[in-house]
Amino acid sequence: MKKINFSVNSFFFFVSMVFIVMIGGLYFQFGEVIKETNQEINKIEINRAKSLTNKIVVHVKSKIDNNFSLLFKNKALRSEISNFLSLNITNEFKYIYVIYKDKKGAYRYLLDGSLGSDKGEFKQKFYPVLENLWKSSFSSNTPVFGFQNKVDGLWVTYLRPIKIFGVTKAMLVVDISTSEYQNLNNFLVPLYNFLKIFLFVLIAIVLVVLVQLYMFYVERKKSIADPLTLLYNRNYLKEIWKKVNLKKISVMMLDIDHFKMVNDKYGHDIGDIVLSSIAKRLMRETRLEDKIIRYGGEEFLILLKWPKSDEKVVQIANRIREAIANEKIRIDEDLSINITVSIGLNIYPCRDKTFKEAIKTADKMLYLAKNKGRNTIVHTSLNAENNLSTQKGKYKK
Ligand code: GH3
Ligand code: MG
Ligand code: MG
Repeated sequence: MKKINFSVNSFFFFVSMVFIVMIGGLYFQFGEVIKETNQEINKIEINRAKSLTNKIVVHVKSKIDNNFSLLFKNKALRSEISNFLSLNITNEFKYIYVIYKDKKGAYRYLLDGSLGSDKGEFKQKFYPVLENLWKSSFSSNTPVFGFQNKVDGLWVTYLRPIKIFGVTKAMLVVDISTSEYQNLNNFLVPLYNFLKIFLFVLIAIVLVVLVQLYMFYVERKKSIADPLTLLYNRNYLKEIWKKVNLKKISVMMLDIDHFKMVNDKYGHDIGDIVLSSIAKRLMRETRLEDKIIRYGGEEFLILLKWPKSDEKVVQIANRIREAIANEKIRIDEDLSINITVSIGLNIYPCRDKTFKEAIKTADKMLYLAKNKGRNTIVHTSLNAENNLSTQKGKYKK
């Protein structure tokens, strides 16, 4: 529908989109910060675990002098090194122990720095949670770390093979607790989740409002549009009644000639086709700024945006009249109908006191056009001073 434009509340749309983009950006940025921060913590913790295990391995090696079996034979040595492991246990490094694989491939405790009931006894079987990690560290002879599922407050397990002449003899294990990691995430993660919910709610609200707006505009469109011709109806006229600036328009009243005959001869349905085809022609012959209103049954009121000179108004009206007169409205293969219109033109509606009177004047001109024999235009007098380019305030009644 070319003539009926609805300005969707683009300001609301713009503001909400900006808001969503901002919150969305913040949300993703925040996600990145959490990820990066955690990566940084991982790096720091892992590096600390690395240097701790290096220190322990140096200590162990200094005690056994490459004779690993000494650890199996010498109980006093085991308890001495276990004590050394205990000394390194902190809140951060919760468990420090050494595991070996027996001949059958089962994991067993060799040393344990834990105290009390937590302590794994020598040769006691050990069942690793992250078994694949263990296998990979044993087979690759390199340190690895893996994330625990925060069971028992554990966060990361760091595995450091103890190698003698390049062969992994046992695995030094450090279980790192979640404390530091959690402290930060206790703050960041809820904030992140809040942002996520906020973003979700915001999008939902915007969607609901947009749907409401859309429905409102659809309803409005229905109430001011004429369903047959898709032009404005008289409700629209009521809407703009007080807003029309008579100095900026010319008022044109257009009526189909002998339309009753069309109805009588071809029937009402074909009359309807003719009406909508004339409406389309009117849309094509006018500009977006011009308003076409179906004023009566086969009568159209056109508010022409002032086209800079009165001659131009007359020209436009004539062009419209001629375009309609020259068009053969094709109904079907055998039937085309020729239609003419008469036009009453109130060139300077500001000469009238009100919009209503301006329409009446155009109507009077239309009446004269009908009397003149139809398919013609009658307009109010042109401005005496023809050189005027605008009607603004120049005319005194
Ligand atoms: P004139 O040249 O003097 O205007 O003659 P006219 O026959 O056009 O004038 P009149 O006002 O007597 O007839 C208008 C006709 O338009 C009468 C009415 O049935 C018809 N009409 C009004 N609205 C519609 C419509 O929506 N569809 C159809 N098919 N006809 C309509
Ligand atoms: Mg008519
Ligand atoms: Mg009429």
